[in-house]
Amino acid sequence: MQTVSGHSATAPAAKPSLAGLSRAALAEALEKIGVPKNQLRMRVGQLWHWIYFRGVQDFAAMTSVSKDLRALLSEHYSLARPEVVVEQVSTDGTRKWLLRLPADTPGEKPHEIEAVYIPESDRGTLCISSQIGCTLNCSFCHTGTQRMVRNLTAAEIVGQVMVARDRIGEWPDAAKPDDRNLPQREGRMISNIVFMGMGEPLYNFDNVREAVDTIADGEGIAIGKRKITVSTSGVVPMIEPLGRDAGTMLAISLHAVRDDLRDELVPLNRKYPIRELLDACRSYPGASNAKRITFEYVMLKGVNDTPDDAKALVKLLKGIPAKINLIPFNPWPGTRYECSDWNTIESFSEIVFRAGYASPVRTPRGRDILAACGQLKSETQKLSARERMALRAMAMTD
Ligand code: SAH
Ligand code: SF4
Repeated sequence: MQTVSGHSATAPAAKPSLAGLSRAALAEALEKIGVPKNQLRMRVGQLWHWIYFRGVQDFAAMTSVSKDLRALLSEHYSLARPEVVVEQVSTDGTRKWLLRLPADTPGEKPHEIEAVYIPESDRGTLCISSQIGCTLNCSFCHTGTQRMVRNLTAAEIVGQVMVARDRIGEWPDAAKPDDRNLPQREGRMISNIVFMGMGEPLYNFDNVREAVDTIADGEGIAIGKRKITVSTSGVVPMIEPLGRDAGTMLAISLHAVRDDLRDELVPLNRKYPIRELLDACRSYPGASNAKRITFEYVMLKGVNDTPDDAKALVKLLKGIPAKINLIPFNPWPGTRYECSDWNTIESFSEIVFRAGYASPVRTPRGRDILAACGQLKSETQKLSARERMALRAMAMTD
């Protein structure tokens, strides 16, 4: 593991940043500094290219924008991203960034969120957060033990993608870091985005939708909506709006096949039980065999991992275009759960496979930096040396 602490070149400036804004928000920002109404569309188009296609961090680089406007822009605004406080690079190439957002009120401590990049040979997945903390207290999730602070703004959500592209050099004119773990094929380094970091994205729907539109915009970052997956613990009333208005792929954190157990693991189940959740999935706009819904199932030793559970799972999902993702539980300091044994996971996976589902077991990545899903907690950098060592040892035995 390699940890780099420090400050990015773009420490948060006092001036508001344009990085991460939607087209409408950019137009508003331009209007505020006196850009005439009839020029707004054209100016937004120009800025969009420099901010989201080229990723520039300085207005001076925007050579197609008039000198006067560039000066005006830099007088009032910045292009700062969320500040990188710590960057950790795992032995398997997984990168985790601890990002600092300016405090909301003077005197308050700044907030911290995390984003994780998982490179594979032919693609790269960026896992981003939607809230600072989470209001839901899933009993096996590290984030669930954290106090909910607030929703992220759309710009802060997009900002995570921009920071990741800065750090792995994915803008057209950027130098790519020398790292054999990065995808080596031609193509995108960040090809997929998952909302599986901190927070419940469907409790921050408007900002998530706005951020998705910005990230997917074909003239900028252009990661298609089919490459963006929103994971929810089951906020049933927002599932249909997600498909209709955001148009992303859907992932459901199912984790149990019976309500009594799911009530315990995912307490939101008391409000929206399994049957209602699956009904919402059945009518998810756009779901088809080519656009399957992912069901996440965390493997908890002695809790939800018997062959009967596996059989009940495939029965439950009958008729839904589904993919099943078995996730080995990632332990965190203080948890009462353990990950199922490897043999148990294999037998479970075999039953799911025989029922016709490709059931990839999601290999834990970046364990040495505590970066796997559900372990995102901004206090992680404060782990004792002993805990760090234990985690590193775990990574080596994977
Ligand atoms: N709040 C959303 C998205 C963030 S959690 C949701 O719950 O879906 C992303 C995924 O990681 C979820 O499937 C969650 O259940 C899972 N997860 C949480 N803690 C975990 C842990 N310790 N080990 C493995 N997966 C975990
Ligand atoms: Fe929140 Fe998702 Fe963690 Fe549950 S699993 S506490 S919904 S982040």
